[in-house]
Amino acid sequence: PPLLVPVRLQRAGYDVQIGAGLIGRAGARLAPLLPQKRVMIVTDENVAALHLPALIAGLDETGIQHQTITVPPGEGSKTLAQYGRVTNALLEAGVERGTTVVALGGGVVGDLAGFAAATTLRGLPFVQIPTTLLSQVDSSVGGKTGINTPFGKNLLGAFHQPISVLIDTGALATLPAREIRAGYAEIVKSGLLGDADLFEWCDRHGQAVLAGDPDLQAEAIRRACAFKAAVVADDEREERKTNGRALLNLGHTFGHALEAELGYDGRLLHGEGVSIGLRLAFMLSVRLGYCAQADLDRVTAHLERLGMPARISDTGHEFSAATLVRHMRRDKKMRDGRLSFVLVRGIGKAFTCRDVPDEAVLATLREDG
Ligand code: NAD
Ligand code: ZN
Repeated sequence: PPLLVPVRLQRAGYDVQIGAGLIGRAGARLAPLLPQKRVMIVTDENVAALHLPALIAGLDETGIQHQTITVPPGEGSKTLAQYGRVTNALLEAGVERGTTVVALGGGVVGDLAGFAAATTLRGLPFVQIPTTLLSQVDSSVGGKTGINTPFGKNLLGAFHQPISVLIDTGALATLPAREIRAGYAEIVKSGLLGDADLFEWCDRHGQAVLAGDPDLQAEAIRRACAFKAAVVADDEREERKTNGRALLNLGHTFGHALEAELGYDGRLLHGEGVSIGLRLAFMLSVRLGYCAQADLDRVTAHLERLGMPARISDTGHEFSAATLVRHMRRDKKMRDGRLSFVLVRGIGKAFTCRDVPDEAVLATLREDG
């Protein structure tokens, strides 16, 4: 039987189901939840080739009607143009208020399909079947959907909670090792920011998770989803500026700056930037006197032992510290000309610090790079 993580929100409640082979059993799992025995699948070309046949076979067995909309793979599909294509296809197919949109793919497909579901006919039921480790532990839980604009990432979007999230650990067998590591960074992040037990667990089992052990992968996903579900239940719409969902950005101010500099073209995956950013956030916390060196050393040792990116030089590129700080200033979380960071008082003890001096950030970047 699948592992279950209940997500209980103010106006929505659903279970995240985690197990091997759930894509093939999605028809049976979804049948009791669907308002209408009809779904519109949104997926990308890579995932369609690998995992769509199993989903369709299961839907056919349970008599659920389906049509599929396929977008090109990659961040380049989170655009107004692809949003227009997807919503036109939904409308052309004659969807009704009870027709469910099913996202089969990584975070790109989940964010795009979720935004299309949130807005088409003012909101269609939505199901997430995340197929990357990152989407399984992060983007599929929480209800954030959206697309990018020329002015920045994720600037058009909506909160739209799914009616169900089905996580098939079997999908990870086809995911490139680099993408597995990128997703793992978000699991470690959860531990480091608010769940010291989860970090201990990662320290013991992370190697096996990366090596593909399906039971330990399922357990890692369960723990990360349960952690995220608790944070989201506490601050569903990111209304708390410092102490709720904002803490999920540990390592992300640094990570986004590295990503911005390498231009979102695949040279640096989001999770790779986060992995390096986690260590930088600990370094900055030590420098400012909030965190003990021993905790930073544990983080460094963990990342290095697992072969995770830990240093800016691990990207294989050189960065100017001043340029990275300029990217951080453009980050939407910046206020009043002061840099705001999620810092730590130790492992599992994150907090938001709203006035970090530029010099400390520059020194941290120079120390690392
Ligand atoms: P992605 O969706 O681009 O997937 C990465 C690559 O893996 C793609 O090429 C995809 O085709 C391929 N792929 C997917 N599943 C596969 C499988 N099982 N086997 C083989 N290949 C597979 O990227 P991602 O890392 O999953 O998601 C990144 C996106 O998620 C970003 O746009 C980010 O903004 C978003 N995100 C959203 C939230 C949220 O709360 N909504 C949170 C974190 C990230
Ligand atoms: Zn992230």
